[in-house]
Amino acid sequence: MVKDECVFEDFCRGPHINSSGMVKAVKITKNSSCYFLDKSDNKMLQRIYGVSFPNKKLLSEYKERILRAKEMDHRKIGREMNLFFFNETSPGSCFWLPDGAYIYNKLQDFIRNEYKVRGFKEVITPNIYSLNLWKESGHYENYKENIFMINSDDFGLKPMNCPGHCIMFKNFVSSYKELPLRLADFGVLHRNECSGSLSGLTRVRRFQQDDAHIFCMSSQIKDEIKASLDFLKFVYDVFNFRYELLLSTRPEKFIGEITDWDIAEENLKEAIIESGHKFILNEGDGAFYGPKIDIILYDAFQRKTQCATIQLDFQLPQRFNLQYQDSDGELKVPVIIHRAIYGSLERFIAIILESYGKKLPFWLSPRQIG
Ligand SMILES: [Zn+2]
Repeated sequence: MVKDECVFEDFCRGPHINSSGMVKAVKITKNSSCYFLDKSDNKMLQRIYGVSFPNKKLLSEYKERILRAKEMDHRKIGREMNLFFFNETSPGSCFWLPDGAYIYNKLQDFIRNEYKVRGFKEVITPNIYSLNLWKESGHYENYKENIFMINSDDFGLKPMNCPGHCIMFKNFVSSYKELPLRLADFGVLHRNECSGSLSGLTRVRRFQQDDAHIFCMSSQIKDEIKASLDFLKFVYDVFNFRYELLLSTRPEKFIGEITDWDIAEENLKEAIIESGHKFILNEGDGAFYGPKIDIILYDAFQRKTQCATIQLDFQLPQRFNLQYQDSDGELKVPVIIHRAIYGSLERFIAIILESYGKKLPFWLSPRQIG
């Protein structure tokens, strides 16, 4: 970037290609103005966005893909099919019209039917909780700005279901005989995303997930992960979605015992391999409270998105002081597996619309006749 006359200053962190001779086809995609270092008292700069390719054929393929992606934008399809809309009276919260609600409910029903055969129990939990709950779970400390506060900040709208399920566990589980306990919840969640980041159905403030929390003993982790991967494969195969798994392991800052982490990571690895999947190792990238499997889904345009997640958690059971009596009479702390397959239903519908366009799978289509 040229800052002063004749002085070239590179603001870009890279990576850079070794020689500009490799660039055989260029297209400027957009330009915008921004303040230097994002501070409004600094000078205005022009930011130019572009793409380059080693040959013209790749560039024209790219242009075609972008054109098709625009055509398949879920906001456009949603409008044309009368599925949903947004309104300034509630930014980031979708109004689902009858045909859109039909798809939403069909997707829920599909998972709900599977819950019956896969041993999940559906529950309904509150939407508004005292801030004491978010303090206990640690969300107040780490996630406060995303929680919608109400009643002079004494209460908050839930951004996730996990703490509510911990309260449920505490109230009705006492023995190892009740484990694994798989609690599923389609509860409405709210996250106070800043208005600039809201985008169609992919980033919203109000959403629902096919959320579930599996409370289990360490010896049950492997089987539960295998079952979760089987569930995932079953669902994604129905939509013909391709995906890959990333296994994120113990980071530098972590809670719990190293031996527990090692056993859990080994369990995750074996579960993935025994389920016939491959994985990419993301060493040291796990959350501080447990290792996880990130599922990267490729949409129809081969763009990567993350919807599903399988996350082990050693922390929440401790924070909520959850215990069960083991077969030897000893009190032990369970492990929680957070898992979702669609993730947010809103975002999953966006992916379906952008992959299938208006030709939805028959079972999902709101217009069966005509
Ligand atoms: Zn959770």
